[in-house]
Amino acid sequence: MEHKLQPESLMMSHGYKPELSEGAIKAPIFQTSTFAFKSAEAGKAFFEVAYGLRQKDQDEELGLIYSRINNPNLEILENRLCLWDKSDDSAVFESGMSAISTVLLEFLNPGDLLLYSSPTYGGTDHFINYFLKKIGVQTISFRPDQSKEEIIEMIKGTNNSANLSTIYIETPSNPTNDLIDIVMCREIADYFSTDEKRVVLAVDNTYMGPMWSSPLQHGADLVIYSATKYIGGHSDLIAGAVLGNFELIKRVKTLRTFLGNMASPHTCWLLLRSLETLKVRMEQQTKNAQEVALFLEKRPNVKKIMFLGSLKKDTKAYSIYKKQYSAPGAMISFEIKGGEKEAFHFLNHLKLIKLAVSLGSTESLAEHPASMTHAGVDPEVKAQMGISDSLVRLSIGVENSQDLIWDIKQALEATY
Ligand SMILES: *Cc1c(COP(=O)(O)O)cnc(C)c1O
Repeated sequence: MEHKLQPESLMMSHGYKPELSEGAIKAPIFQTSTFAFKSAEAGKAFFEVAYGLRQKDQDEELGLIYSRINNPNLEILENRLCLWDKSDDSAVFESGMSAISTVLLEFLNPGDLLLYSSPTYGGTDHFINYFLKKIGVQTISFRPDQSKEEIIEMIKGTNNSANLSTIYIETPSNPTNDLIDIVMCREIADYFSTDEKRVVLAVDNTYMGPMWSSPLQHGADLVIYSATKYIGGHSDLIAGAVLGNFELIKRVKTLRTFLGNMASPHTCWLLLRSLETLKVRMEQQTKNAQEVALFLEKRPNVKKIMFLGSLKKDTKAYSIYKKQYSAPGAMISFEIKGGEKEAFHFLNHLKLIKLAVSLGSTESLAEHPASMTHAGVDPEVKAQMGISDSLVRLSIGVENSQDLIWDIKQALEATY
């Protein structure tokens, strides 16, 4: 009887053949830079395909060449990563930033227009506004509260709409959990697409993927991850990934070959291990986050809570949430009564929750966006985005939820 296995059942085995590695149940680390060809003809054939000189034949088995181009750990990881997002292919990088910068470099040419959502991750913002501008790419941003019509008018207002080539969005936004409608962005991309040119829509899904949101199902062309966060999930590696159809990922992988920013065999091996527990980790993390949020909502010294599980039912954000996400995630930001002094006091008094940036890991982390992750953001923009001195960001881990609540409670009590 036909039975389709779910991704969590395939995460331990998909894409790996034990018989090719002495029967080892787990893929060994292929710590090698290069691979021996069986013959000169075989080497020639592999290079022809790798360098795009010809298409792969239907049933041609391609061998490995050199670890900048491909490596067993990289290939197994890329096959497995496709399962959750139901994508054709994926490309794994040595960091989230290298995934993001490689995508932007591949799909933008000097003179092109890039539309991106604001706020966006600090590193991404820097790359867009310092590097891309330097090479002659025009960039404009939109805010989560702007309508489709307003954004379209804004693009036309640049007098360069014919060169709109890429839309880049990050949703939910960090650290405020603002949501962007992916379907709306697809419609904007289609509005400016022509028979010759499809405007590419890329979504940074680091906060919610791959478990709680699948942007490809909502019309995105590319999904991007900092795999350092939930996918890696143990605060012990830096990595990134891009997913999409064969044609687009081929372009991304070709540029990656020449930039040389692929992930190492060891990092891929660690990520393979992480993928096995991704679902159980993320499920526990969102369950814990919902309990922590319920606790915070009732505290008199907590002024405002930014969490997808706490959205008011009649808002635009709530309708996007219902359409795009299957769980509220595990990132909670909240405004503490007072300002920087109270926020720092609270952070300094946490005992179980660690004071550190980054997110998505097994251990819970807390930080102060205004002076840490978003320190470089223009003060005016910070105010507009709601990143005040009283804002604290929590990434909820897999600990016992009552222990987390105890820690937050005692740190709040020590503060006031
Ligand atoms: C961390 C992060 C990045 C950058 O990823 P690195 O792995 O640190 O290079 C990009 N986008 C988002 C949303 C992030 O949280």
